[in-house]
Amino acid sequence: MVTVLETTTTPQPTVSETYRIALQDVTTHAKAQLPVPLHKRLASAYEIAASGGVVMHGDDVASVASRTTAGRYYKVNGVCQCVDASHAPQGLCAHRLARGLVRRATQVAAARIANGNAPVTPEHSVTSDAVEVIAPATPETPSTPLYESPASANAFILVAGHKVQLTVRGHDERDVLARMAKVLAQYPAA
Ligand SMILES: [Zn+2]
Repeated sequence: MVTVLETTTTPQPTVSETYRIALQDVTTHAKAQLPVPLHKRLASAYEIAASGGVVMHGDDVASVASRTTAGRYYKVNGVCQCVDASHAPQGLCAHRLARGLVRRATQVAAARIANGNAPVTPEHSVTSDAVEVIAPATPETPSTPLYESPASANAFILVAGHKVQLTVRGHDERDVLARMAKVLAQYPAA
């Protein structure tokens, strides 16, 4: 069965606007969670992230731009090789924070887009969906991942007129593909 999406005349924020707002919200949330000595690094991290200085390679590894040396990138996953990483509380240098902000903002933006772009601005309350995605703001524990995804599949779907990348993860390919097919059945091809 194909669900026909309703057309609407209400202007919807673009994907990039939704992402930009999500990045701000995630940063605000992180500031409330992180100790004061990390706030300056968080501000730097936001600047790096907002200016496109974080490039994700898959879900985990990121290239993060140095703020002091133009054209220099740090390879960041659970750790960072920069000098500040050994001084920063919990090793959270601006580069690790920037990677975290981008990962979380991407999830939040995807959830909001999937949620019909519920109005979320600094003046409005954050949607419950978004809260759910943002909430686990505990320090990362890269040595003990909660969930490994040996299999995953990607597809593009149209949600409220937006092309959205959908990723389904699971333990084996048959399971992933079956679940992907189930989700795709609800959307017209992009
Ligand atoms: Zn660093």
